[in-house]
Amino acid sequence: MDWIIHVSQLLYLVAAILFMMGIKRLGSPSTARKGNQLASLGMLLGVIVTLFDRQIVQFELILAGVVIGSLIGAVLAKKVQMTAMPELVAVFNGFGGGASALVAWGEFSRGMAMAGEMAGQVSGQMTVQGVPAVFGVQELASIGLSIAIGSITFTGSLIAFGKLKGILPGGRVALPGQNIINLVLTAGVLGLIGWFVMDPTNSTVFWVIFGVTLLIGLMTVLPIGGADMPVVISLLNSYSGIAASMAGFVLGNNLLIISGALVGAAGLILTNIMCQAMNRSLVSVLFGSFGGGDDAGAGASGGDRSVLETYAEDLAIQCRYAERVVIVPGYGLAVAQAQHVLKEAASLMEDFGVDVRYGIHPVAGRMPGHMNVLLAEADVPYDQLYDMEEINPQFAKTDIVLIIGANDVVNPAAKTSPGSPIYGMPILNVDEAKMTVVFKRSLSPGYAGIDNDLFYADNNRMFFGDAKKSLQGLVNALKELE
Ligand code: NDP
Repeated sequence: MDWIIHVSQLLYLVAAILFMMGIKRLGSPSTARKGNQLASLGMLLGVIVTLFDRQIVQFELILAGVVIGSLIGAVLAKKVQMTAMPELVAVFNGFGGGASALVAWGEFSRGMAMAGEMAGQVSGQMTVQGVPAVFGVQELASIGLSIAIGSITFTGSLIAFGKLKGILPGGRVALPGQNIINLVLTAGVLGLIGWFVMDPTNSTVFWVIFGVTLLIGLMTVLPIGGADMPVVISLLNSYSGIAASMAGFVLGNNLLIISGALVGAAGLILTNIMCQAMNRSLVSVLFGSFGGGDDAGAGASGGDRSVLETYAEDLAIQCRYAERVVIVPGYGLAVAQAQHVLKEAASLMEDFGVDVRYGIHPVAGRMPGHMNVLLAEADVPYDQLYDMEEINPQFAKTDIVLIIGANDVVNPAAKTSPGSPIYGMPILNVDEAKMTVVFKRSLSPGYAGIDNDLFYADNNRMFFGDAKKSLQGLVNALKELE
């Protein structure tokens, strides 16, 4: 019935608008929760309309899938540590890409069976004459691309997961001439997709596309260094969206086309933001190898230079009489899960009349927004969070900067050492403040694996120890001063 089609298309449009409004609200921590709810509502609407629109018969199976999937999702989301979030996203991307490839495969098999019935079967083989009645060139190209991109996303994401989890080596794992091999394989797959469009009855071509693209996923991500893995995950996220969009073309489903395109574009934008914030090009991420994904390790030496230390009691007195304190959180804050005790220390300082602010670097932690989420968990007011561009001019007027488990994002080598791997990366100019205090366990380097001159500066003090314990010490000492 025509009106059902019109109503369902209209509701798809409403769902697509909800997705876009949701994404818009994800741009700020204060509206992100609402954005997530709006986008989820859009997804629910999309699922319900699709079920009725397509008169899906086996509701029982779908319901069972929804219940089991929701349970697994809820447990995973509840249990996952914030520092392991990129791993979880990698798995989600992989499953998303794999699902798109499977949908394309299923739709292709269904269509070929129909084509076989229409054109008759010749000794069990489908004839090519029946195919055009079921699939046009556009559908066949979409099937080929969906299977290819979905399979690359699937194996690529599993490798990214393995590298982040430490199951696979974090450094470069590659054959000699790996980049050339990958380029040749990719060009070959494009040729095979062309062949598949011309002759979809040739099942060998179909399976070779599947197999080779699974291999490409493995071979493109294995050589990439562990430190670049979050960027790769963002790129794979974009791929999973493109694969879903292609699956939308296969199914003739407008909502899937739109939502896949949104994920594809959002993933690309995020990848670009991360590359810019690390001053790396996407080409150097994909074809270079940067870092081994190991926090403590090489490059830990500061030569024979010495550092000055501070302790809770001294620092508490200095903070008590400071006018402005800026807190710079980093990956170590997340590892130590010290966000709540940090908030407590900040509140005590505020009680003494100190102006407390937080300076957030775009790639502090292991994914964009990592620090914002962490601080939001501890109810740090959003208006105290300042982006890098906003806080940088304020350091010259700051008495003390407390750097909690951050390292690369405050490393002056990014400004002063042309040979450094992070040279050119925009950093927080904490060295312009009157005094800096670095909370970390040792002089080990951060993700980029390089020493940090800031530690040895005359106006810097090291507060060695686990961030949570050190901050607890500071809280106790501040309370003593009350
Ligand atoms: P870093 O990785 O540079 O440094 C983190 C520091 O935390 C380490 O030096 C470590 O020192 C310290 N640390 C670890 N555990 C603890 C603990 N329990 N208590 C106290 N300190 C601890 O982190 P940053 O946030 O400064 O920089 C992020 C890095 O990640 C950048 O290089 C960035 O390019 C990279 N990256 C970020 C992405 C993002 O989107 N956020 C994406 C891709 C890469 P020690 O062992 O001595 O304690």
